[in-house]
Amino acid sequence: MQVLNKGFVNLVEHMGGDAAVIRNARRCWRSESKSADADRQLLRHLIRKGHKTPFEAMVFTFDVKAPLFVARQWFRHRIASYNEESLRYCIAQREYYVPEGLEGDVLAAWVRQNESAFDFYYELVDTYKLPREQARSVLPVGIYTNFFWTVNGSSLMNFLMLRTAQDAQYEIRMYANAILELVKEVAPVSFGEFEREVLKRGG
Ligand SMILES: Cc1cc2nc3c(=O)[nH]c(=O)nc-3n(C[C@H](O)[C@H](O)[C@H](O)COP(=O)(O)OP(=O)(O)OC[C@H]3O[C@@H](n4cnc5c(N)ncnc54)[C@H](O)[C@@H]3O)c2cc1C
Repeated sequence: MQVLNKGFVNLVEHMGGDAAVIRNARRCWRSESKSADADRQLLRHLIRKGHKTPFEAMVFTFDVKAPLFVARQWFRHRIASYNEESLRYCIAQREYYVPEGLEGDVLAAWVRQNESAFDFYYELVDTYKLPREQARSVLPVGIYTNFFWTVNGSSLMNFLMLRTAQDAQYEIRMYANAILELVKEVAPVSFGEFEREVLKRGG
């Protein structure tokens, strides 16, 4: 799913879904799934009471391409695993964030500034043979980075609560909104109830 001018977030794979959460939750009461409606009520109850561990039975891996400054906020979410493309080993691609709505002189200056940083970076690497890990210092925080993010359902709910909120920065909010849509497709009851009970009520 495309996010911002050059970014994306895609669900690569997942383990578990609503059925896994229900199975884990019902272990507490030594009960079996009775009906879809009873299961939905159970998940709603768990979300309202903050009984989060059954949601850890779901695990998701996302492929993310985001500006560095977004990744920096993202990586603060410690209860997850990350594997990021390294600019020690890979050459940076000439791609950078351009906010929607920039136009005229400001847009021209924005592009000029970023292009000039990339020109200098490639000159350092190609002409002056500076190691990539040092040359990258001249690149701005709006360049795109690419990482895999593996996170369980409970930690993902924490991320969504914090990063879909109106006080989260617009750019990471766009990623959080996209992720919510992706996970609602594979675990519609868990994340549908979470959206209704938590996100739409403001956390
Ligand atoms: C709007 C907004 C503004 C922010 N501004 C800043 C800022 O200015 N500066 C800044 O540094 N950060 C800032 N942050 C980052 C914020 O402080 C958190 O680091 C980030 O949101 C990750 O949240 P988390 O710790 O709940 O997630 P995770 O790291 O995924 O942790 C999930 C949960 O695990 C538990 N946990 C994890 N690690 C520990 C631990 N070591 N000890 C105890 N419990 C733990 C906590 O219950 C935590 O909620 C901001 C976040 C938001 C949403």
